[in-house]
Amino acid sequence: MESKGQVANGGLPAGAGSDQIPNAKPQKPLALILFGPPGSGKGTQSKLLLKTLDFPQISTGDMLREHVRRGNAVGTKVEAKMKAGILVKDEVVNRLVEERLAQPNAARGFILDGYPRTRAQAETLCGMLAGRGAEAVVIHLVVDYNEVIARLTGRRQCPVCGTLYNLKFKPSKVPGVCDLEGAALIVRDDDREEVIRERLDAYQNQTKPLIEYFREKGKRLYDVDASSEPPEAVFQKILALIQ
Ligand SMILES: [Zn+2]
Repeated sequence: MESKGQVANGGLPAGAGSDQIPNAKPQKPLALILFGPPGSGKGTQSKLLLKTLDFPQISTGDMLREHVRRGNAVGTKVEAKMKAGILVKDEVVNRLVEERLAQPNAARGFILDGYPRTRAQAETLCGMLAGRGAEAVVIHLVVDYNEVIARLTGRRQCPVCGTLYNLKFKPSKVPGVCDLEGAALIVRDDDREEVIRERLDAYQNQTKPLIEYFREKGKRLYDVDASSEPPEAVFQKILALIQ
């Protein structure tokens, strides 16, 4: 077991055991960066990759919440901002990522989640990766927006028992009513078309400059069609690309 939860906070190397035998064939650590709009199945792909590659997921959101929970210096600094929904400063987030990358279980590779979020973060990340001899591989899940909208706006929920239906993929037996107790189905606020369009636009605005940055820099970047095949097939495509 890796000593999880040990934040290298001024912690110095243990002194002994620093002269380990170098690995026979050192491989470049892989920094996997997944981009995908709502409805692209990014969460599913990320989980499959973590399991198969045995990489840690480095989530800046989780790390920040953990610091807040512990109430340490970083935590108190960012807590108010997070509560107010204000973005935490790049330098704070960058430092967290840098510390995390130095931990032993990130030595072979890792999947970044929620980072980089800005072009400045992407630049810093590339510097960090260069310093560690790691290679960035960007997977961009591409979906047809009309299809995402059709899928998400087709969702209906029973307000009584919570069962989810989909007009296209999982319709109720009688249109508009729940199979279980006959309650009238509703559209959740999150699933209204204008809300979905807003989320897709927000994603687009945030991600586009990052994709462009990685492309300009000549990083390995793959556009993967995530709308015409089942998740398992998409996953196999991704695996083939990164190996
Ligand atoms: Zn019901």
